[in-house]
This record gives sequence, structure tokens and C-alpha cells, in this order.
Amino acid sequence: MGYQEKLVGVFGDPVDENPTVVLEQAAFDAAGLPFRYLTIQVKEGDLEAAINGMKAMNFTGIGITMPFKREVIKYLDDVSDAAKVMNAVNCIYYKDGKLFGENTDGKGFMESLKVGNVDVKGKKVTILGAGGVASAISVELGYAGVKQITVVNRTEETGMRLVNTINNNTEAEAVFVYWDGSYKISEDTDILVNCTPIGFEDPTKKPDVDYDSIKPDMIVCDVIPNAMTTRFLDEAKARGCRTFCGLEMLVYQGVLGYEYWTGESPDVNVMLNAIKKEYGII
Ligand code: NDP
Repeated sequence: MGYQEKLVGVFGDPVDENPTVVLEQAAFDAAGLPFRYLTIQVKEGDLEAAINGMKAMNFTGIGITMPFKREVIKYLDDVSDAAKVMNAVNCIYYKDGKLFGENTDGKGFMESLKVGNVDVKGKKVTILGAGGVASAISVELGYAGVKQITVVNRTEETGMRLVNTINNNTEAEAVFVYWDGSYKISEDTDILVNCTPIGFEDPTKKPDVDYDSIKPDMIVCDVIPNAMTTRFLDEAKARGCRTFCGLEMLVYQGVLGYEYWTGESPDVNVMLNAIKKEYGII
């Protein structure tokens, strides 16, 4: 019997409300693996020291959240092609002895659609927002063969930057729409995704959309990670749409981290139940 644990976790600031420990630790414990997930505040300016620290203490890997997803790249030996395109890493692990960076934000989203039997090939997608998560999701959707991505954003510069990233790196055709007042969803949209934080801190808020333009055959998704539903998803459900919530995306990101770190597959239901319990959903 040994007492030494395999260390993983997350570096960020603020990091106190990051719930990933709940689902990862539940899955490690259920599998009887000697892993310990630590939620660690690293202040701006201390990231290099923190990465050196994780190497010195033989961490198996680490998650990276705000504000370090971009900065961390310079401390790694290599990053995945997708993370290079997104210019952001949120999961680090050792690959062939090298410290390797991956971005699981978009991959977690794609996995939740896959588990729900949604085939995105040839589909037309509308994305609300153009920040880090919008970029990760758009690039993965582009890689998976969507036909068109409409990026709707209130700041043209960030919106155009994402459009150029998609057009320069994937087969999808991206267009920018300036978000000015109530946005009417184009009726040929197959998949609509809210990638803004609206609804996160104040659950009574919803993106400024003409909700009657949402048609029942659209698949509607939200990235808000702390709830099974949001006002945005409720509006879509009321119009007969199939919906996917950010909690599922969060869980599937947790699945990927677990797989990179342990080389094994977790029990997804253990993770899902742990986080639902944490949020008082069950
Ligand atoms: P960013 O700050 O990088 O991007 C936010 C985007 O939303 C920007 O395009 C911004 O527009 C837009 N936006 C913000 N507020 C408004 C508003 N009031 N009206 C219109 N547009 C708005 O954030 P992230 O992409 O990193 O995160 C977005 C959300 O995703 C967060 O709520 C986060 O919690 C969640 N998330 C969920 C995960 C999951 O697993 N479910 C994983 C990671 C994040 P502009 O460019 O004009 O500023």
C-alpha cells in the first residue's frame, strides 16, 4: 500500500468557483485511482513559476483557465493543431514525455452533440458571441465538416477575427453579422449556439434574440456551465427545439481531461451525477 498520489488540477485566477474538481474527483474515486485534483489560484505573473512547480512535483497534468489559456502556450513543449489555431490551451498532459497542450472547450461541446446522435456535417450554424469558447466551438465545428458558420457579435473586430480564423483554417464558410438589437435567426440555421456569458451570473437574463425566429427543427445549445437549462434554452424548448446545455459540455471536457491524464475512460454518469448534485439539480 502506497500513500503517494498522482496530482492533477487547474491553475487560474479567479478559480474558486471552477467546479471541475467535483466531477473529476468523483470519477477518480469511483475508479479507485490514486489521483488528487487540486483547484489552485495562480496569480498573474506567476504562471511560469507554477508550471515549473507542477513539473518539479511530478504532476500528471493540469487544467488551465482564465487568464492563462493563451500565455501558457509559451511554457509548453508542443500544442495540438486545434489549440494552435485557437491560440488557447486549457488542458496539459505529458505526451511521449513532452509537456503537451490541448484545448477541450470545443471538443467537449462536440462530444455532447455526438452522444446525442447529432451529425453536424453539412449543417449551417449560428454562433452568438466571438470570444474564447465561440472560437473553440467554431473551429471544432469547422473541422467536423459544417457548411456555414454565421458569427453574430456586438464587437466587429472580435467577430471578424473569428470569421478569418474559421475561413483560414477549416473548410466551413464563415460570415460576420453585427449584433445590433434583437437578432433575427436566419431560418436556414440548423444549429444555434449561445457562446456569450449572458445568463451565467444572472439566470434571469437571455441573449437579445427575436425568439419567434427560432424554428422547431433547430438544435439549440448554450455554453452556460452551471445549469441544466437557461432562459435561452427555455425559449427554444417552448418552440419545440431539441436543446443541449453547457453542463454536458463541461462534463465531456472533464471526460477528455480524465482520459489524457489516466489513459482510461471514466464513468460519465458518475461525473454527471456528481456535478448535478453539487448544483442541487438532483
Ligand atoms: P469571452 O469573454 O472570451 O467572450 C464572450 C463573448 O460574449 C464575446 O464575444 C462578447 O462580445 C460576448 N458578450 C458578452 N456579453 C455580452 C452581452 N451582454 N451582449 C452581447 N454579447 C456579449 O468569454 P468565453 O468565451 O471565455 O466564455 C463565454 C461563456 O462560456 C462563459 O459564460 C463561460 O462560463 C462559458 N464556458 C463554458 C464552458 C463549458 O464547459 N460549458 C467552458 C468554458 C467557458 P464582445 O466581443 O463584444 O465583447
